[in-house]
Amino acid sequence: MTPRSLPDTAATARMTVDLDALAANWRQMRDLSGAARCGAAVKADAYGTGADRAAPRLAREGCRDFFVADAGEGMRLRPLLPDARIHVLNGVFEGAFADIIAHDLIPVINSPQQASFWRDNASGRPYALHVDTGMNRLGLSPAEAVAHAEGSGPAPCLVMSHFACADEPGHPLNDAQIRTFAGVAACFPDVEASLANSAGIHIGARAHFQLTRPGIALYGGEAVAGVSNRMRPVVTAEARVLLVRRARAGQSVSYGAAHVLSRDSRIAVCGVGYADGYLRNGSGAGVPIRKAVPQGASAAVAGTRCPVLGKVTMDLTMVDVTDLPEDAVGPGDWIELIGPSVDVEDTATAAGTISYEILTSLGHRYERHYVN
Ligand SMILES: *Cc1c(COP(=O)(O)O)cnc(C)c1O
Repeated sequence: MTPRSLPDTAATARMTVDLDALAANWRQMRDLSGAARCGAAVKADAYGTGADRAAPRLAREGCRDFFVADAGEGMRLRPLLPDARIHVLNGVFEGAFADIIAHDLIPVINSPQQASFWRDNASGRPYALHVDTGMNRLGLSPAEAVAHAEGSGPAPCLVMSHFACADEPGHPLNDAQIRTFAGVAACFPDVEASLANSAGIHIGARAHFQLTRPGIALYGGEAVAGVSNRMRPVVTAEARVLLVRRARAGQSVSYGAAHVLSRDSRIAVCGVGYADGYLRNGSGAGVPIRKAVPQGASAAVAGTRCPVLGKVTMDLTMVDVTDLPEDAVGPGDWIELIGPSVDVEDTATAAGTISYEILTSLGHRYERHYVN
């Protein structure tokens, strides 16, 4: 899908988002959700893909339930999603109240204090209720949620919880969370319930309840640890090759002289660095993580993977293209950092992190293109 047909510009970083792939991934999650409705987590600018383009496309596919982190994200989406339920995961506090009301957002109430605040101020407007069943992050405790159900205030429109370990299908906390959540949800008759993120959807029907909330799988990430990634890549990030230089065996590359060349080499110097979210921990050499994960990140030229040499720098990354034919890559060409030939999960593993962090770190210097 390397977008050769895009107009040439001054950009040295380019990002292409394939909206058809996004839509196909959502349909796959919807089908896996069985009888449950399938929503979408579009927080953090739709995991870096651009929520203003991603969310309307998901709505066109039939998605009606969206989850953002804060009211600002919800406000920006409201005009683009006039009919959707937009849930604000971080909940409500005084400063956010006016925006939540004005833009018809649904706060996800995360504590008894937030519940009282909403009851006293929102005159019966809809809200969702988050129950903490094992994260110790957001949500009422199960006992607090049961007390809430028995109270006299208006019922929520959605009761939800969040898995801590769904990416490890055999983890005992998954079953414990399902049981605890089912018990709490039963105290809210006629209220829809939601538990599963992308990985949770793979657990199967007992985790689905009435609504699922996939995020990473929609954007092409791997949901379940150790299971090969079956999602279509959505994001292609590319760097401009600024020049290709020759260097001699025995010379070193980049800061700290951390990589010493074992052969005469051709090195593509590429216009993306850690300031673009191409993490320094992905360096080929010279960073502590290389002791734990020996293989650094790689880029690709026409499908052939080429390793990063030495340390990734702020704006530049050096890539070993010695094994490619002389004319395979030259100044002005684009080299793939993540995309169809370099799974975002591989880049994440090399940097000791997860695809979520890679995607949400892609910075503002990328020239963005949307296809399909
Ligand atoms: C981010 C998030 C999701 C989506 O999780 P993925 O692992 O990306 O599928 C679902 N629910 C909540 C509460 C979240 O914070």
